[in-house]
Amino acid sequence: MIPAPLRLALDGDALAANWRTLAGLSGPAACGAAVKANGYGLGAREVVTRLAEAGCRDFFVATWKEAAALGDLGVKVSVLHGVRDEDLSVALTADFARPVLNTVRQVRRWREAGGGPCDVMVDTGMNRLGLTPDDVVSGLLDGLTVETLMSHLASADEAVSANAVQRDAFAALAGRSSARRMSLANSAGIALGASYAFDLTRPGIALYGGVQVPAFDGRIRQVVTPQAQVLQRRLVPAGQAVGYNATWEATAPTEVAIVNLGYADGYLRCFSGRGMARASGLELPVIGRVSMDLVALDVSAAPDLAEGDWVSIDYSLPHTAALSGLSQYELITGLGARFDRLWV
Ligand SMILES: *Cc1c(COP(=O)(O)O)cnc(C)c1O
Repeated sequence: MIPAPLRLALDGDALAANWRTLAGLSGPAACGAAVKANGYGLGAREVVTRLAEAGCRDFFVATWKEAAALGDLGVKVSVLHGVRDEDLSVALTADFARPVLNTVRQVRRWREAGGGPCDVMVDTGMNRLGLTPDDVVSGLLDGLTVETLMSHLASADEAVSANAVQRDAFAALAGRSSARRMSLANSAGIALGASYAFDLTRPGIALYGGVQVPAFDGRIRQVVTPQAQVLQRRLVPAGQAVGYNATWEATAPTEVAIVNLGYADGYLRCFSGRGMARASGLELPVIGRVSMDLVALDVSAAPDLAEGDWVSIDYSLPHTAALSGLSQYELITGLGARFDRLWV
Protein backbone atom coordinates (compact mmCIF):
# COMPACT_ATOMS: atom_id res chain seq x y z
CA MET A 1 0.00 0.00 0.00
CA ILE A 2 1.27 3.44 -0.94
CA PRO A 3 1.22 5.67 2.13
CA ALA A 4 -1.02 8.67 1.49
CA PRO A 5 0.44 12.19 1.66
CA LEU A 6 -2.20 13.07 4.24
CA ARG A 7 -3.24 11.27 7.39
CA LEU A 8 -5.39 11.53 10.48
CA ALA A 9 -3.31 11.03 13.61
CA LEU A 10 -5.79 9.29 15.93
CA ASP A 11 -5.04 9.23 19.66
CA GLY A 12 -6.25 5.87 20.95
CA ASP A 13 -5.45 6.75 24.57
CA ALA A 14 -7.52 9.92 24.31
CA LEU A 15 -10.44 7.99 22.81
CA ALA A 16 -10.40 5.44 25.65
CA ALA A 17 -9.90 8.17 28.26
CA ASN A 18 -12.88 10.11 26.87
CA TRP A 19 -15.04 6.99 27.11
CA ARG A 20 -13.93 6.42 30.72
CA THR A 21 -14.69 10.07 31.55
CA LEU A 22 -18.17 9.78 30.05
CA ALA A 23 -18.73 6.43 31.75
CA GLY A 24 -17.80 8.04 35.05
CA LEU A 25 -20.18 10.95 34.44
CA SER A 26 -22.90 8.41 33.61
CA GLY A 27 -22.78 7.20 37.23
CA PRO A 28 -24.31 3.73 37.68
CA ALA A 29 -25.69 3.75 34.13
CA ALA A 30 -23.81 1.77 31.48
CA CYS A 31 -22.04 3.89 28.87
CA GLY A 32 -22.28 2.92 25.19
CA ALA A 33 -20.84 4.49 22.06
CA ALA A 34 -22.35 5.87 18.86
CA VAL A 35 -20.12 4.65 16.03
CA LYS A 36 -22.37 5.53 13.07
CA ALA A 37 -20.90 7.26 10.01
CA ASN A 38 -17.81 5.05 10.27
CA GLY A 39 -17.14 6.03 13.86
CA TYR A 40 -17.73 9.72 13.07
CA GLY A 41 -15.12 9.36 10.34
CA LEU A 42 -12.31 7.84 12.43
CA GLY A 43 -12.93 4.23 11.32
CA ALA A 44 -15.67 2.31 13.11
CA ARG A 45 -13.81 -0.99 13.41
CA GLU A 46 -10.80 0.57 15.12
CA VAL A 47 -13.02 2.67 17.39
CA VAL A 48 -15.12 -0.33 18.42
CA THR A 49 -12.08 -2.50 19.07
CA ARG A 50 -10.53 0.14 21.33
CA LEU A 51 -13.72 0.98 23.20
CA ALA A 52 -14.61 -2.69 23.72
CA GLU A 53 -11.17 -3.11 25.24
CA ALA A 54 -11.92 -0.15 27.55
CA GLY A 55 -15.13 -1.87 28.67
CA CYS A 56 -17.83 -0.51 26.35
CA ARG A 57 -20.58 -3.05 25.58
CA ASP A 58 -23.26 -1.14 23.62
CA PHE A 59 -22.60 0.25 20.15
CA PHE A 60 -24.92 2.23 17.88
CA VAL A 61 -24.85 2.54 14.09
CA ALA A 62 -27.39 4.00 11.65
CA THR A 63 -27.78 1.23 9.06
CA TRP A 64 -27.43 -2.52 8.62
CA LYS A 65 -24.55 -2.02 6.23
CA GLU A 66 -22.70 -0.25 9.03
CA ALA A 67 -23.63 -3.06 11.45
CA ALA A 68 -22.48 -5.79 9.06
CA ALA A 69 -19.04 -4.19 8.86
CA LEU A 70 -18.66 -4.84 12.62
CA GLY A 71 -20.06 -8.37 12.65
CA ASP A 72 -16.82 -10.20 13.37
CA LEU A 73 -15.71 -8.02 16.29
CA GLY A 74 -17.69 -9.86 18.98
CA VAL A 75 -19.70 -6.84 20.11
CA LYS A 76 -23.42 -6.03 20.21
CA VAL A 77 -24.65 -3.36 17.82
CA SER A 78 -27.99 -1.52 17.75
CA VAL A 79 -29.17 -0.25 14.35
CA LEU A 80 -30.76 3.13 14.95
CA HIS A 81 -32.75 3.33 11.72
CA GLY A 82 -34.65 0.13 12.47
CA VAL A 83 -35.44 -2.51 9.90
CA ARG A 84 -36.72 -2.24 6.32
CA ASP A 85 -37.91 -5.12 4.16
CA GLU A 86 -34.55 -4.88 2.40
CA ASP A 87 -32.75 -5.46 5.74
CA LEU A 88 -34.78 -8.41 7.00
CA SER A 89 -32.69 -11.30 5.71
CA VAL A 90 -29.56 -9.84 7.29
CA ALA A 91 -31.33 -8.62 10.42
CA LEU A 92 -32.89 -12.00 11.20
CA THR A 93 -29.60 -13.87 11.00
CA ALA A 94 -27.16 -11.31 12.46
CA ASP A 95 -26.95 -12.34 16.11
CA PHE A 96 -24.53 -9.46 16.83
CA ALA A 97 -27.03 -6.76 15.87
CA ARG A 98 -30.62 -5.80 16.62
CA PRO A 99 -32.87 -3.10 15.20
CA VAL A 100 -34.06 -0.03 17.05
CA LEU A 101 -37.72 -0.08 15.99
CA ASN A 102 -39.00 3.41 15.21
CA THR A 103 -42.37 3.04 13.51
CA VAL A 104 -45.54 0.97 13.83
CA ARG A 105 -44.71 -0.69 10.51
CA GLN A 106 -41.23 -1.59 11.72
CA VAL A 107 -42.72 -3.13 14.89
CA ARG A 108 -45.18 -5.22 12.85
CA ARG A 109 -42.51 -6.22 10.36
CA TRP A 110 -40.19 -7.42 13.13
CA ARG A 111 -42.91 -9.30 15.00
CA GLU A 112 -44.33 -10.97 11.87
CA ALA A 113 -40.82 -12.03 10.79
CA GLY A 114 -40.27 -13.65 14.18
CA GLY A 115 -37.39 -11.32 14.99
CA GLY A 116 -35.47 -11.73 18.24
CA PRO A 117 -34.43 -9.07 20.75
CA CYS A 118 -34.85 -5.48 19.61
CA ASP A 119 -34.64 -1.95 20.90
CA VAL A 120 -37.40 0.64 20.57
CA MET A 121 -37.15 4.40 20.00
CA VAL A 122 -39.90 6.60 21.41
CA ASP A 123 -40.28 10.22 20.37
CA THR A 124 -40.60 12.56 23.35
CA GLY A 125 -40.61 15.86 21.51
CA MET A 126 -37.93 15.96 18.83
CA ASN A 127 -40.33 14.76 16.14
CA ARG A 128 -37.58 12.93 14.35
CA LEU A 129 -37.67 9.13 14.73
CA GLY A 130 -39.74 7.04 17.09
CA LEU A 131 -43.08 5.68 18.24
CA THR A 132 -45.37 7.85 20.34
CA PRO A 133 -45.52 7.31 24.11
CA ASP A 134 -49.11 6.17 23.54
CA ASP A 135 -47.88 3.45 21.17
CA VAL A 136 -45.54 2.19 23.90
CA VAL A 137 -48.17 1.97 26.65
CA SER A 138 -50.97 0.71 24.40
CA GLY A 139 -49.62 -2.81 23.98
CA LEU A 140 -48.11 -2.32 20.52
CA LEU A 141 -44.89 -3.92 21.78
CA ASP A 142 -46.56 -6.97 23.33
CA GLY A 143 -44.78 -10.17 22.41
CA LEU A 144 -41.52 -8.45 21.49
CA THR A 145 -38.35 -8.92 23.50
CA VAL A 146 -37.35 -5.31 24.05
CA GLU A 147 -33.80 -4.89 25.31
CA THR A 148 -33.65 -1.08 25.50
CA LEU A 149 -36.33 1.58 25.28
CA MET A 150 -34.73 4.81 24.09
CA SER A 151 -35.52 8.37 23.30
CA HIS A 152 -33.33 11.21 22.00
CA LEU A 153 -32.87 14.78 23.24
CA ALA A 154 -33.31 17.57 20.69
CA SER A 155 -31.37 20.29 22.55
CA ALA A 156 -29.12 18.57 25.08
CA ASP A 157 -26.32 21.05 24.31
CA GLU A 158 -28.49 24.00 25.39
CA ALA A 159 -29.81 24.90 28.83
CA VAL A 160 -33.48 24.90 27.83
CA SER A 161 -36.56 23.65 29.65
CA ALA A 162 -37.38 21.31 26.75
CA ASN A 163 -34.74 18.92 28.13
CA ALA A 164 -36.61 18.34 31.38
CA VAL A 165 -39.90 18.03 29.46
CA GLN A 166 -38.40 15.26 27.33
CA ARG A 167 -36.81 13.58 30.35
CA ASP A 168 -40.08 13.58 32.27
CA ALA A 169 -42.07 12.26 29.32
CA PHE A 170 -39.54 9.47 28.98
CA ALA A 171 -39.41 8.71 32.72
CA ALA A 172 -43.19 8.30 32.69
CA LEU A 173 -42.69 5.22 30.49
CA ALA A 174 -40.66 3.38 33.15
CA GLY A 175 -42.31 0.06 33.86
CA ARG A 176 -44.87 0.59 31.09
CA SER A 177 -43.17 -1.74 28.60
CA SER A 178 -41.22 -4.96 28.84
CA ALA A 179 -37.96 -3.14 28.11
CA ARG A 180 -35.07 -4.30 30.28
CA ARG A 181 -33.31 -0.90 30.16
CA MET A 182 -34.00 2.74 29.35
CA SER A 183 -31.63 5.11 27.53
CA LEU A 184 -31.93 8.84 26.78
CA ALA A 185 -28.66 10.78 26.94
CA ASN A 186 -26.25 11.50 24.08
CA SER A 187 -22.91 13.22 24.88
CA ALA A 188 -24.34 16.55 25.97
CA GLY A 189 -27.22 14.78 27.71
CA ILE A 190 -24.72 13.11 30.05
CA ALA A 191 -23.69 16.58 31.26
CA LEU A 192 -27.31 17.43 32.14
CA GLY A 193 -27.01 15.30 35.25
CA ALA A 194 -27.87 11.98 36.85
CA SER A 195 -31.60 12.18 36.13
CA TYR A 196 -30.85 11.96 32.39
CA ALA A 197 -28.65 8.86 32.55
CA PHE A 198 -31.35 6.18 33.13
CA ASP A 199 -29.72 2.73 32.54
CA LEU A 200 -27.54 3.42 29.51
CA THR A 201 -25.98 6.52 27.92
CA ARG A 202 -25.11 6.86 24.21
CA PRO A 203 -22.30 9.37 23.68
CA GLY A 204 -20.87 9.99 20.23
CA ILE A 205 -19.22 13.33 19.55
CA ALA A 206 -17.59 13.71 22.98
CA LEU A 207 -15.81 10.36 22.56
CA TYR A 208 -14.09 11.86 19.53
CA GLY A 209 -13.11 15.16 21.15
CA GLY A 210 -16.32 17.17 20.86
CA VAL A 211 -16.83 19.74 23.63
CA GLN A 212 -20.27 21.36 23.47
CA VAL A 213 -20.90 22.07 27.13
CA PRO A 214 -18.77 23.69 29.87
CA ALA A 215 -18.84 20.45 31.89
CA PHE A 216 -16.57 18.82 29.28
CA ASP A 217 -14.06 21.67 29.16
CA GLY A 218 -10.61 20.37 30.05
CA ARG A 219 -11.96 16.83 30.59
CA ILE A 220 -12.51 15.69 27.02
CA ARG A 221 -9.32 15.23 25.00
CA GLN A 222 -8.71 15.88 21.33
CA VAL A 223 -8.56 12.60 19.39
CA VAL A 224 -8.18 13.59 15.73
CA THR A 225 -5.37 15.65 14.20
CA PRO A 226 -5.15 16.00 10.40
CA GLN A 227 -1.60 15.98 9.08
CA ALA A 228 -0.32 16.67 5.57
CA GLN A 229 2.99 16.41 3.75
CA VAL A 230 4.79 19.34 2.12
CA LEU A 231 4.80 19.02 -1.68
CA GLN A 232 6.75 22.15 -2.54
CA ARG A 233 8.43 25.05 -0.81
CA ARG A 234 8.92 28.38 -2.54
CA LEU A 235 9.91 31.99 -1.88
CA VAL A 236 7.13 34.32 -2.99
CA PRO A 237 8.47 37.78 -3.84
CA ALA A 238 6.80 40.90 -2.48
CA GLY A 239 3.83 41.93 -4.59
CA GLN A 240 3.09 38.39 -5.83
CA ALA A 241 -0.12 36.54 -4.94
CA VAL A 242 -0.79 32.94 -3.84
CA GLY A 243 -3.65 30.67 -4.88
CA TYR A 244 -6.94 30.93 -6.74
CA ASN A 245 -8.19 34.46 -7.31
CA ALA A 246 -5.06 35.91 -5.73
CA THR A 247 -6.76 36.52 -2.39
CA TRP A 248 -3.42 36.71 -0.55
CA GLU A 249 -0.57 38.95 -1.63
CA ALA A 250 2.95 39.03 -0.20
CA THR A 251 3.79 42.39 1.37
CA ALA A 252 7.36 41.16 1.84
CA PRO A 253 9.26 38.15 0.42
CA THR A 254 7.53 35.18 2.07
CA GLU A 255 8.47 31.53 2.52
CA VAL A 256 5.49 29.41 1.44
CA ALA A 257 4.86 25.64 1.61
CA ILE A 258 2.18 23.86 -0.40
CA VAL A 259 0.74 20.82 1.42
CA ASN A 260 -1.33 17.78 0.37
CA LEU A 261 -4.74 18.68 1.76
CA GLY A 262 -7.81 20.41 0.42
CA TYR A 263 -11.52 20.86 0.53
CA ALA A 264 -12.06 17.47 -1.13
CA ASP A 265 -10.62 16.04 2.10
CA GLY A 266 -13.01 18.01 4.27
CA TYR A 267 -10.60 20.86 4.94
CA LEU A 268 -13.10 23.36 3.64
CA ARG A 269 -12.74 26.74 1.97
CA CYS A 270 -13.81 28.50 5.16
CA PHE A 271 -10.26 27.90 6.42
CA SER A 272 -8.85 30.06 3.61
CA GLY A 273 -6.73 32.72 5.26
CA ARG A 274 -7.91 31.54 8.72
CA GLY A 275 -6.65 28.04 9.43
CA MET A 276 -3.38 27.21 11.18
CA ALA A 277 -0.84 24.44 10.71
CA ARG A 278 2.12 23.62 12.92
CA ALA A 279 5.48 21.96 12.66
CA SER A 280 7.48 21.42 15.86
CA GLY A 281 5.00 23.74 17.55
CA LEU A 282 5.76 26.64 15.16
CA GLU A 283 2.72 28.47 13.77
CA LEU A 284 2.25 28.20 10.00
CA PRO A 285 -0.84 30.21 8.94
CA VAL A 286 -2.98 29.14 5.99
CA ILE A 287 -2.71 31.81 3.29
CA GLY A 288 -4.92 32.33 0.25
CA ARG A 289 -7.75 30.05 -0.84
CA VAL A 290 -7.94 26.39 0.13
CA SER A 291 -7.90 24.41 -3.16
CA MET A 292 -9.50 21.02 -3.77
CA ASP A 293 -6.29 19.12 -2.97
CA LEU A 294 -3.82 21.76 -1.78
CA VAL A 295 -3.33 24.38 0.88
CA ALA A 296 -0.64 27.10 1.04
CA LEU A 297 1.06 27.92 4.34
CA ASP A 298 3.27 30.81 5.38
CA VAL A 299 6.26 28.87 6.70
CA SER A 300 8.51 31.84 7.49
CA ALA A 301 8.64 30.56 11.08
CA ALA A 302 10.06 27.18 10.02
CA PRO A 303 13.21 27.69 7.92
CA ASP A 304 14.05 23.97 7.95
CA LEU A 305 10.66 22.68 6.83
CA ALA A 306 11.24 20.93 3.51
CA GLU A 307 9.55 18.88 0.79
CA GLY A 308 8.31 15.62 2.30
CA ASP A 309 8.06 16.95 5.85
CA TRP A 310 4.74 16.69 7.71
CA VAL A 311 2.71 19.47 9.27
CA SER A 312 -0.19 19.14 11.73
CA ILE A 313 -3.38 21.09 11.20
CA ASP A 314 -5.05 22.82 14.16
CA TYR A 315 -8.35 20.91 14.46
CA SER A 316 -9.54 21.03 18.04
CA LEU A 317 -13.27 20.54 17.47
CA PRO A 318 -14.60 23.31 19.74
CA HIS A 319 -12.08 25.89 18.50
CA THR A 320 -12.42 24.90 14.88
CA ALA A 321 -16.21 25.10 15.11
CA ALA A 322 -15.96 28.60 16.59
CA LEU A 323 -13.50 29.62 13.85
CA SER A 324 -15.50 28.20 10.95
CA GLY A 325 -19.13 28.42 12.01
CA LEU A 326 -19.47 24.71 11.18
CA SER A 327 -20.71 22.20 13.75
CA GLN A 328 -18.26 19.89 15.49
CA TYR A 329 -20.18 16.99 13.89
CA GLU A 330 -19.71 18.34 10.36
CA LEU A 331 -16.04 19.04 10.99
CA ILE A 332 -15.25 15.49 12.08
CA THR A 333 -17.53 13.43 9.83
CA GLY A 334 -16.45 15.39 6.76
CA LEU A 335 -12.81 14.25 6.93
CA GLY A 336 -12.48 12.26 3.75
CA ALA A 337 -11.35 8.91 2.39
CA ARG A 338 -7.95 10.08 1.15
CA PHE A 339 -6.52 10.34 4.68
CA ASP A 340 -4.63 7.35 5.99
CA ARG A 341 -5.94 6.74 9.49
CA LEU A 342 -3.01 6.24 11.81
CA TRP A 343 -3.62 5.26 15.45
CA VAL A 344 -0.90 6.56 17.70
C1 LIG B 1 -25.91 10.09 17.00
C2 LIG B 1 -26.75 9.68 18.13
C3 LIG B 1 -26.23 9.65 19.43
C4 LIG B 1 -24.90 10.26 19.78
O1 LIG B 1 -25.05 11.67 19.80
P1 LIG B 1 -23.85 12.67 20.14
O2 LIG B 1 -24.51 14.00 20.14
O3 LIG B 1 -22.85 12.53 19.05
O4 LIG B 1 -23.30 12.29 21.46
C5 LIG B 1 -27.02 9.11 20.43
N1 LIG B 1 -28.26 8.64 20.16
C6 LIG B 1 -28.81 8.67 18.92
C7 LIG B 1 -30.18 8.16 18.69
C8 LIG B 1 -28.08 9.21 17.86
O5 LIG B 1 -28.63 9.28 16.64
